[in-house]
Parts: sequence; structure tokens; C-alpha cells
Amino acid sequence: MNAAPHSSADMQRKPVRHVVIAGGGTAGWMAAAALSRTLGKYIDITLVESDDIGTVGVGEATIPTLLTFHRLIDVNEQEFMAASSATFKLGIQFENWRSVGHRYFHSFGTTGRDHWSAGFQHFWLKGRERGLASDYGDYCLELTAAMQNKFAQLPNNGINYAYHIDSTRYAAFLRRFSEGYGLHRVEGMIEHVAMADNGDIQALVLKDGTRIEGDLFIDCTGFRALLIGKALGVAYEDWSDLLLADSAYAVQTESVRQAVPYTRSIAGDACWQWRIPLQHRGGNGIVFASRYMDKDVALKTLMDTIEGEPATEPRLIHFKPGQRTRCWERNCVALGLASGFLEPLESTNIHLIQRGITRLLQAFPEIVNQVEVDEYNMRMREDLEHVRDFVLLHYHVTDRRDTGFWRECAEMNVPFSLRHVIDLFTETGKVYNLTNQLFAENSWIQVMMGQGITPRHRHPSPDLMGDDELSRFLGKIRGGVEQTVSRLPEHMDYIRSYCAMKNP
Ligand SMILES: Cc1cc2nc3c(=O)[nH]c(=O)nc-3n(C[C@H](O)[C@H](O)[C@H](O)COP(=O)(O)OP(=O)(O)OC[C@H]3O[C@@H](n4cnc5c(N)ncnc54)[C@H](O)[C@@H]3O)c2cc1C
Repeated sequence: MNAAPHSSADMQRKPVRHVVIAGGGTAGWMAAAALSRTLGKYIDITLVESDDIGTVGVGEATIPTLLTFHRLIDVNEQEFMAASSATFKLGIQFENWRSVGHRYFHSFGTTGRDHWSAGFQHFWLKGRERGLASDYGDYCLELTAAMQNKFAQLPNNGINYAYHIDSTRYAAFLRRFSEGYGLHRVEGMIEHVAMADNGDIQALVLKDGTRIEGDLFIDCTGFRALLIGKALGVAYEDWSDLLLADSAYAVQTESVRQAVPYTRSIAGDACWQWRIPLQHRGGNGIVFASRYMDKDVALKTLMDTIEGEPATEPRLIHFKPGQRTRCWERNCVALGLASGFLEPLESTNIHLIQRGITRLLQAFPEIVNQVEVDEYNMRMREDLEHVRDFVLLHYHVTDRRDTGFWRECAEMNVPFSLRHVIDLFTETGKVYNLTNQLFAENSWIQVMMGQGITPRHRHPSPDLMGDDELSRFLGKIRGGVEQTVSRLPEHMDYIRSYCAMKNP
């Protein structure tokens, strides 16, 4: 990173008083909601979107960090869930990932109880060796509740959850929210991005000639990346040598059964399918590697296996996994698909939007300054590489060798950052988490064991326990989980009483 080339631009800048958000998809409206709620009294905010272009229309599974975002901006959960036709999500069930017919669950909760010296997995591994432990998931509240289709919020954040949302309804909800805090929305097609003499963006020029000037621009124009890519020429770093999937079909279906509190991810020959249950419909799709699977085969695979009548025409979406080399360039911050895209296997894109927004709020410049910009870019890169590694783990650690696609995934050279985590866990059963990283120990352990790694060694701490003590320790955790789950209502009963949607 080199601050020098832009330092003269820094000196010509004015204080940030007017923020212009280009694009009104999930990224644009999340940015609008957060900025208007927190800084709306201090700055003017305008959002431009084009009804003719529309949004990508997918992005319906989230992770628990969305609760934090909503708390930050004071979103009422019941109103948000009713408006977005949302259901609760306790994790993801991965089917056919380790081998055809095998399934495991990545839950949002913690499994068991760690000792200060060693994580729970060491006690569980010892218990299994001695025939004292049942399935790893039996010690996790969220997983057990999900499998029994149960859910309720518990005191003291006693259950970790996220949501499935209707993305179009969510954007409409955030629009009402933002306009309530004074955000100004303009409908129109951005035709041209006008540049200032110092190389910054000066204004968006719409098709009807309207000119919208700003001090700071947020590019939320989706894959088009009109500002960060087209106007400012920031390169895109392509990760398709690691993440082979580059296309998707998405289709909505009528609901045919009660919504379960988890997402399903079902792997195929060179693809995987998602099933996302909402209150009023299902969200379905197939993500595939076009090098290994023809699009017609992908479409047939999807349509042959969906449950319920299709409610929309299937839509083909092409993408390139990767990220902008810099998400913040000059006076423009890119969020959402304009900044990069990691396939939705672990539902991380909305989280990354939110991460970009909170980092922007924390770094909110009085005057745009290159040092701050460099810091932002470094942190966002760390976030993205961490998520990339975690997604890649699912493909790389697998027993599947049945197609060329799976053989390439299993045999590829993965980045050292991921290789190290896999090797360390394989040898020692340990995972070390850096603060601020999205996926903590429990997530890595669930996925690494789920994908087939059994550690060769483990911590000696559990050896100090005799059979009785270890059995009591494990039994108490499992009993606690069973008791709590037995008292929970059915997931949809809870939704009906808590946040049923208003306009089915
Ligand atoms: C197949 C697939 C599945 C996904 N699933 C998930 C998931 O389960 N969970 C998750 O977290 N994320 C998921 N994502 C990612 C998620 O959909 C996006 O991160 C999210 O929707 C944000 O999109 P966006 O707002 O950046 O872009 P878009 O929704 O494409 O919005 C772009 C906006 O820019 C506007 N625009 C563009 N050009 C112009 C112009 N010239 N003039 C005016 N306006 C313009 C459009 O009108 C629109 O309002 C998925 C993505 C894909 C492709």
C-alpha cells in the first residue's frame, strides 16, 4: 500500500457532507439504513436506483451477525421479520459433501463446554475412544433443536440464530426505515460518472440529465460496479482457480411443508443446491462450475429436484469469485457485489456488506484521507480471505473423487492460511481463533470433522478423567441440551406467535 500518489488529492478534498449511494439492492439499502440512522442528522444522504435494472434478487440466507447490525441501527426484530417474511435459521445442513449419502450440520451454536486447557472436542474424542460419547452434534443445542424443527428465543442470548429473508421485501423494509430518517431517494438510470480534476468522483449523471454531486460515493451497483470498476478502474482479483463455481440458477417455489429452521446445501456432481424456507415460499437454487457442468444440465438438476410448483422463471446468474483489489478507492467505497463475490455456500455476502458498513462508520472521515482508506482496505481484505478459506475448506477436504470437479477440488493447492488450519487440526485437534474473525473455533471444528477429518492426536487433559467422571461430564451437557429442546415449540408455531408476515 502506498499513500503517496493520492496525497495531493487528499489536500484538495472538502469535508464529507453529502454521501451518494449508487444502487438500491440489499447493499445499497443496508448502507442507507445504517448511515441515515447513525449520521443522518450530520450529513445528507441520497440513494439512486433504477427500477429498469432491478436487483440481483437473491441473497436470502444470513448469519447471526445480522442481529448485531439490526441492534446497531435499532431495527425492531418482529417488524423486520414480519415485513421480510423471515424464518429463523440455526445453521446449515450439508448433504453429500463428504461423500454421497453423508450429511452433517454446521450450527451457529457452541458444541459442548470447553475446559480452559482444551476445547470440548478433545473430551468428546476421548469419550468416543472409550465408548462413552454419542454424536458430536448431540452436545449442541442449536443443532439438536434444528433437527427436531424446534425454535424459541431464550433468555441471555441462550440460542444463536440468524434468519432466512425475502431479499426484495427486506430491501423494501430498509427503504421505509431509511426514508424515516430523512434519506432522499432518486429513481433514475446512472448514465455517466463525472470525475473531478483530482481524479475523485464528482457526480453521478442520470439519463434524464439530473446531476447528483457528492463528497463520498458508495458503489452498490452490483456486478456492474459502475463507480469502483468502470469509472475508477480498480482491478478485480479473480479467485476462480480456487473456487470453481461460477454460475447459478435461482427459482422460487410455493411452500409445500412447514419451514424448517435451517438451510439445506446439497452437493451434486459439479454443483450444490440451496433450499431456503421462508414463511410464504421457498428459495431454491443451484450453484455450479460451468467448466464441469453444462447450464442445461444444471437447470434440469434443479427443476427435477425442487419441492413445490415453481413460482418464478428460473434465472441464470454468472459470477466471478474474487474481490476488488481495493474496496475503497479515492472518495468511493464499494459494498456488496460491486466489491467482490464469494459464492453463497456459508451465506456470508450480506455479512460482508454489513462488515463494510460498520468499518466505514467507524472510519467515517471528516475529510477522505488516504491513510484511513489503506487501513479500511487491509481490514476488508483480511475479512474476505478468511471467508474464502472457510468456503474453500468444504470443497477441498472431502472423500469425494467421483467426478473431475471433486478430484480437482481435493487435489488443488490451497492457500497456506487454510493449509495450516487443516494440518494443525489433523495433527492435534486444535484450532486457534484470531479475535475479530468471523468463523470461530466451533465452526471450523464442525466443518472439518463433518468433511471427514479425525485428528490424529489430541490434548492430554481428558486423560486425567476416569470413565465415570468423563461420562458424567458428557452426560450432563447432553442432558441439558435434550431438556432445553424438549421445552421448545415447533419453529413455525413460534413464528406465528412472534412475527407472522402481514401480507401473505
Ligand atoms: C446465486 C446467488 C446466491 C446468493 N445467496 C446469498 C445468500 O444466501 N446469502 C448472502 O448473504 N448473500 C447471498 N448472495 C449475495 C447477495 O445476493 C448480495 O450480496 C446482495 O444481494 C447484495 O447485492 P447488491 O446490492 O450488491 O447488488 P444488486 O442486488 O444487483 O443491486 C444493484 C443495484 O444497483 C442498481 N443499478 C445498477 N446499475 C445502475 C444504473 N446504471 N443506474 C441506476 N441504478 C443502477 C440496481 O438498480 C440495483 O438497485 C447471493 C448471490 C448470488 C449471485
